Amino acid sequence: MASQCCPARITLDEWTRRYARLRADGLSEPGYGGPLERHVDDGDSRLLGLKFDNSPAALRLWNLLLTEEARLHEARARGATIVGVMKDLGTAAMVAWSIPNVVAFYPDGAWWTPCLTEQNSRVLAIADSLGLDESFCPVRAMVGAFVNGEHFPIPDLLVCSAGAVCDDFSAIAQRLEALGHPIVWWEMPRRRRPDPGEPAIELPGGGTAPAEQVRIVEAELRRIGRIMADAAGASLTEANLVEGIRRANRVRACLRELRDLVFLADPCPMPALEILIAEMLAIHYCSDYDESLAVIEGLLTETKRRVAAGLGVLEPGAARIFWVNPVADLRVMNIVEDIGGRICGTDYMILHAIDAIPEDVLPWQALARTALADPLVGSASDRAERICRDAVRYHAQAVVVSRIPGASHCATEGAAIRELLRDRLGIPVIEIEVPSITDAVEAGLRTRLQALVEAARRERA
Ligand code: SF4
Repeated sequence: MASQCCPARITLDEWTRRYARLRADGLSEPGYGGPLERHVDDGDSRLLGLKFDNSPAALRLWNLLLTEEARLHEARARGATIVGVMKDLGTAAMVAWSIPNVVAFYPDGAWWTPCLTEQNSRVLAIADSLGLDESFCPVRAMVGAFVNGEHFPIPDLLVCSAGAVCDDFSAIAQRLEALGHPIVWWEMPRRRRPDPGEPAIELPGGGTAPAEQVRIVEAELRRIGRIMADAAGASLTEANLVEGIRRANRVRACLRELRDLVFLADPCPMPALEILIAEMLAIHYCSDYDESLAVIEGLLTETKRRVAAGLGVLEPGAARIFWVNPVADLRVMNIVEDIGGRICGTDYMILHAIDAIPEDVLPWQALARTALADPLVGSASDRAERICRDAVRYHAQAVVVSRIPGASHCATEGAAIRELLRDRLGIPVIEIEVPSITDAVEAGLRTRLQALVEAARRERA
């Protein structure tokens, strides 16, 4: 059967031919399905330079990702309330998705628009013209998308966390508000370690926070929950929230199983690029909960099939690299694999959107714990501790800290991670900077990654 041919990473051209064969063999697709190359006509020209997994499950993943803007416009047309949640990456969206007839998304996701469109959408140029130049992180693309109105619909309500937030996001969101997009701010305290004897509460992912901080965040989430429900003319009951958490945990459990299987199996059964995109579905379900769950389940089924058959997309024994921070240019995920590496663990700044939300405590407190588990609201050394634990668990042989140009949060964490991993594990760690389009620096990036792959191999020998 064409749908079950050998796993491989293929180009867009190859997908065009494969798609025709799959359709001839009776492939059935959801409403947003279709050939991948149509997204190039919509402006996503970077697809021409990527390699994709060749499974129907990956096809469905990419189609879900690349049709989100249309889905948001459909939600607006059918009268749903659209909430733009910003910065906290996961928790505020869970609150919003628990309210009937609300669709929530992170406008921050527009940071990939310059990559996918190879700058043709001009969102960065618009941000530049508004004073948000290259000294800010690429999340400034979001402002360009609000201004040109060519991407997502303008949300009915915008909420954004403040407090333990990087300087870039604060400045970008404040500029957005000054441009006439009112924002409801909610306070996220910087997570600190509990003092000796101070009441402490466990967080998803293994950390702790002072009980007082959990109470503060719980009150803030309740407040924004009420504001969201009012905006939708609906009510948000505890029963709604419990159900929202249960649904979130289904997605998260499926994703954790997928990551474990992919990161531990040899040969690597699913490419890094598809796993990166799958992880991103957890933060707001790509604006469609049911399809996100179905897509992740489809990837899991395909991965299980490959692992059981001993099949992979890469040669066995590829150098095992743990990757920290998402890349602005998706192509870099392909490059790692082209040069003999594979991704065996990740911290894309959204681990708190993948860890299980506690179901044995009251729901508002459960979400407060989840929000406080955000790797970006604590110290760089807390983040490094978690990376170290996960690197051991996934047998990493090297770590890449992928710096985001202009990103204030990147300033200190590379050193913290390098020190901890060198002390505990003695494995090589490098920092690289990945701009939205890497073409001009690709040769240098390849050389540095190649050297890391060789160093990882020497570790193993
Ligand atoms: S600087 Fe880092 S944390 Fe801040 S918006 Fe940019 S990527 Fe996100």
